[in-house]
Amino acid sequence: MSVSRRDFLRKAVEGGAAAAAAVASGGVPEAEAAGLQRPPRTLPPDAVGLLYDGTLCIGCKACVKACKDANGMPPDIHADQRGWNQGTWDSPQDLSAKTLNIIKLYTDGTMAVKDRETDGYAFSKRQCQHCTDPSCISACPVSAMTKDPSTGIVSHHPDRCIGCRYCVLSCPFGVPKFDFEDPFGRIHKCQLCNHRLAENKLPGCVDVCPTGATLFGRTADLEREAERRLTLKPGDRAVFPRGGLGGTPGGARPSHEKVVAAEYQQHIYGKSELGGTQCLMLSGVPFDKLNLPTNVPDYGYPTLTEGIQGAVYQSMVTPVVVLGGLLAIAHRNVKGSD
Ligand code: SF4
Ligand code: SF4
Ligand code: SF4
Repeated sequence: MSVSRRDFLRKAVEGGAAAAAAVASGGVPEAEAAGLQRPPRTLPPDAVGLLYDGTLCIGCKACVKACKDANGMPPDIHADQRGWNQGTWDSPQDLSAKTLNIIKLYTDGTMAVKDRETDGYAFSKRQCQHCTDPSCISACPVSAMTKDPSTGIVSHHPDRCIGCRYCVLSCPFGVPKFDFEDPFGRIHKCQLCNHRLAENKLPGCVDVCPTGATLFGRTADLEREAERRLTLKPGDRAVFPRGGLGGTPGGARPSHEKVVAAEYQQHIYGKSELGGTQCLMLSGVPFDKLNLPTNVPDYGYPTLTEGIQGAVYQSMVTPVVVLGGLLAIAHRNVKGSD
């Protein structure tokens, strides 16, 4: 398609003005309305991830320990326990530069019943969501975060990292953590145990999970399994797989049958949030109670930020052209003079 010089300049000015207006108003809707969004990324062909089902989780934290073993992470002893707990046991309270995976507890009132919002309790798991359209990759100025074009696993490359921590700020799930105790600094986050997958082993957290609360598999298969579970009602007998869903590294483990105790929230977390994530979650209590971002758009923020950047950079053509013109005029007027 050929673009005339006049059209090119007009588009540059329009794009710049729209981007400036959107940025000035600080509004996502304005940027959307101005048509500045770039198209969303889609799931890679062999996207893999995790399905975490909080209703099956017993809070044993075997996955937290296995994640540390699989990734050579040190114990994480919380500051207020360091005086007396040094060298005794790991007591992480959240994701950190020493903890890539954590089980968190929701509680309300008397905590009498599991997976109940009122007077109940529930578990939830945090690790990298391996977003379809990751903000951490978009924000990284040196491509130290990458997404595998086939599996979609989002990895960090310390050899390229300059320690700017833009990925830390940009991740809507608060996943990448910078190690301030390391003299050279370093970002840490779950890489879906890609080193174990390469050896045909399951991710550490999945390998040890006794109930199948954390499953590994192709994201499309995990989503189908999650949809099946959403049809179950309390009192139903159902079979739950463990380990990897059919044909995945490490193989499937014997499944188990159990009576469904909790009512599932009728939503698969990660299916649409922020453009979708390769790790999905089911829960018996509302996802906002688990402190997950829920009031979020169904597209990744990079669709907007990169769209706006594109328009701004395109509009920079205008000042360059104007400056070039002024220089040419100045050059012509001073020709032959001192
Ligand atoms: S959860 Fe955060 S760190 Fe993981 S891929 Fe998404 S944006 Fe990146
Ligand atoms: S996939 Fe590996 S790195 Fe990620 S949470 Fe599980 S054990 Fe940890
Ligand atoms: S190993 Fe499985 S059951 Fe135990 S805390 Fe982790 S996800 Fe829950």
